[in-house]
Amino acid sequence: MPQWWKLRRRTAQEAAQALMLDPAFRMWLIAVGRAYQGGHANFEAEELRTLVPKMNRSTGETSLYSDRQIGRLIKDLIEAGILAPASNRRCLVIPFTLLNADIQYSPVPCPEHGHDLSWTPDGWIDPVALVDGLGVAATMRKAG
Ligand SMILES: [Zn+2]
Repeated sequence: MPQWWKLRRRTAQEAAQALMLDPAFRMWLIAVGRAYQGGHANFEAEELRTLVPKMNRSTGETSLYSDRQIGRLIKDLIEAGILAPASNRRCLVIPFTLLNADIQYSPVPCPEHGHDLSWTPDGWIDPVALVDGLGVAATMRKAG
């Protein structure tokens, strides 16, 4: 069985529009669709509230989750191990254990975290450096 599969980002983003899905799952699909180098997915202030609307199943009406509720959804995804603990409303980080986003082009550091490293349970790593033969420990020291 292969260790990695590819996910189509556009399909993940489109699926995130399906309001019958759990809001935490929709938020994660949005992160998958937007993630770039290091698994970072950046958002403007309040943007997640509008991207993950709440649907009233009885009336079909939509409204916005509160900041606190959005924070709770992020916390749930962190506890499930599919977002890094460094995730917040401005940047959802998909762990390297789940997504290898070592894109070789346009290395723009994440404005929220100040780098484009990938997160693992052992700390931040540079997957490109791993390919180049540098040790994980050396890379983690670099990240601080
Ligand atoms: Zn980030």
